[in-house]
Amino acid sequence: MDRVLLFSISAVLLNLSQALPAKVLPTDQDIQSEKHDAMDIFSRILEANKEISYMLLEGDMALPKTRSAMKCLNDYCKWPKSPSGQVEVPYTIASDFYEDEKAVIENAMKSIASKTCVRFVLRTNQVDYISIGNLVGCSSTVGRSGGKQQLSLSVDGCVSHGIIEHELIHSLGFHHEHTRSDRDQYVQINWQNIPQASAYNFQKKDTNNLNTPYDYNSIMHYGRTAFAIHYGKETITPIPNSSVQIGQRTEMSNIDIQRINKLYECAL
Ligand SMILES: [Zn+2]
Repeated sequence: MDRVLLFSISAVLLNLSQALPAKVLPTDQDIQSEKHDAMDIFSRILEANKEISYMLLEGDMALPKTRSAMKCLNDYCKWPKSPSGQVEVPYTIASDFYEDEKAVIENAMKSIASKTCVRFVLRTNQVDYISIGNLVGCSSTVGRSGGKQQLSLSVDGCVSHGIIEHELIHSLGFHHEHTRSDRDQYVQINWQNIPQASAYNFQKKDTNNLNTPYDYNSIMHYGRTAFAIHYGKETITPIPNSSVQIGQRTEMSNIDIQRINKLYECAL
């Protein structure tokens, strides 16, 4: 898909989101809210383009239609470790990103590599790989899905360090922090502020928490007004201290890093 078509799609989305107050910098959640508002149009666009035909789960998590669950039963959803102890994740990157955008994407990859044993490497002939495209919204599959898996970083709001890290971490196998199995001890989900059609974004998951504490500062945690039924309404409230900050998209937290290293058994 070229930039002209994407620009047209973005224009449609902007029209659909005009009811929302103007925002200076779109965050992951903002984009996803707008995307969800426009889900019917997205569905048609996605259906029309088999190359990027996937269904969206949890806002920015995409899952190939051939799979019915994300549960990792045999470690296949993890990327394999080479004899050197490094976990190589092959990727391709669409040619329509500008050089400065590619640099931001590669910098996010380097940031993860500098703190873990994961290495994002340009694909040569590997069967399983991430295809990074300037598609619709910010989205990724969770974990390795087999073959080519799409990771979308729309140039219209997704090419920023924290959002890229967030999507890359999905691709390594991580769900959103606020959906982890013990979340009810740490956050209250305000279902009355969540449109029914978006409720799946907040469903609890049977997650492997890797013996790490709940992390309000995780880059994988939604912000408190994500998918709100009305702009500004809280959908997630930290408990017992409701003033705790959530939803940062600046940099991986120490616990995010710790989890990647635990999941992949990195010897650092
Ligand atoms: Zn996400």
